[in-house]
Amino acid sequence: MVRLPKLMISLVALAASAATGRVVDTTNSYKLEVRFDPANGDLAVQGTLNIVADRPLPSGKLLLNDALRVSRFEVNGAPARVEPGYLLNGEKVPGGQALMLPANLLEKRGQRAKVHFSYDGRLTTDRIHVGRGVVSPRWTELTLESFWYPILFEEPLLRSTINLRVPEQYEVIAPGLVQKLGPGNWRLDPQAVVSGRITFALSNTWHVERRGLGGLVAALYSAKAEPRSNEILDAVAGAHAHFRIMFGEPRTTKRRITILLANADVGLKYPNQAFATGGDFIVMSNGEAQAQLDTLHHEVAHLWWSGGQPGSPDELLSESVSEYLALRFGEVRWGKDWLRSRRAAMARRSEALKPRSSTSMTLAFRLGSRYSTIVDLTHCGCFTTGLVRLRWISC
Ligand SMILES: [Zn+2]
Repeated sequence: MVRLPKLMISLVALAASAATGRVVDTTNSYKLEVRFDPANGDLAVQGTLNIVADRPLPSGKLLLNDALRVSRFEVNGAPARVEPGYLLNGEKVPGGQALMLPANLLEKRGQRAKVHFSYDGRLTTDRIHVGRGVVSPRWTELTLESFWYPILFEEPLLRSTINLRVPEQYEVIAPGLVQKLGPGNWRLDPQAVVSGRITFALSNTWHVERRGLGGLVAALYSAKAEPRSNEILDAVAGAHAHFRIMFGEPRTTKRRITILLANADVGLKYPNQAFATGGDFIVMSNGEAQAQLDTLHHEVAHLWWSGGQPGSPDELLSESVSEYLALRFGEVRWGKDWLRSRRAAMARRSEALKPRSSTSMTLAFRLGSRYSTIVDLTHCGCFTTGLVRLRWISC
């Protein structure tokens, strides 16, 4: 079972400047016009990225899938370079190309830059090397790891609006607000800071089960009728109620929680990955039933704990807290013996893993799926360990 450290930030990205006390919103924002056909992967995007520096950034580059041909890339009105290949902390990111920001573009916090881009190409599943991403009419998931839009890893806080055109027969789901403006014409707006996760899924054959959840509706989207749908929605409802009693309403509460479950072979490379994003969108893992529900509890906890909130931008903290909460809720549901065996399994797994460099762990944070070290760190289940140590530990 893999639990990803996917960023799921919905906190308000406002921070007070220590020097002035002035509140500065350093969230970057994307505006994308997208045409996409899941039948063949044809993708055409034009748009803008407004960067507001979180901190001085002497150099930077955007990562984009190398299946896409860049026809326009301008920074503050001037053409900028596109280079083949993409290195992150000295490691080659598979399937990536680099859109280079000019040197010393962002010299201080709060400084702005505007990027214009256009690109097109055929983004098929075999061109997606990292993460769950898949392209097909029955099931498409375009996530961060698809690199289908330009990603600036150094600036993880972002907002986005996407106008998406797809053939009429598809239904699109996504975090936050999803508006169908007309046949095949969708507007997607997470309406919150979604760190590294502007994304959507679509299908021409969703199966949907809905459940009232207090003031919310939970909707389970799957490839076919799910025999365990009641059990799954019970798990969401139970965990949601449990954490709500502990912490009150999540900051990100919206009217609806969307849950995605690939309950058939839809072509995912890594079907055991799970994540939560936007405060209202959960992607479930596959695998053994109880472990799957345990992971689901963890993802529900992320509706409260994401991006290290409250009080910290540290993603490891949010992973540790979510893991801890899932364990304690699992104990409530399944008893102390379950908790004991779960912890023993985590300890065995931790011992079996070899240490990796902190560089790999940084990559793990940023790319998630191909690297499991950070995930396994949180699997140690040691809240304080996750809190204070970023390096490999065994617990
Ligand atoms: Zn998590």
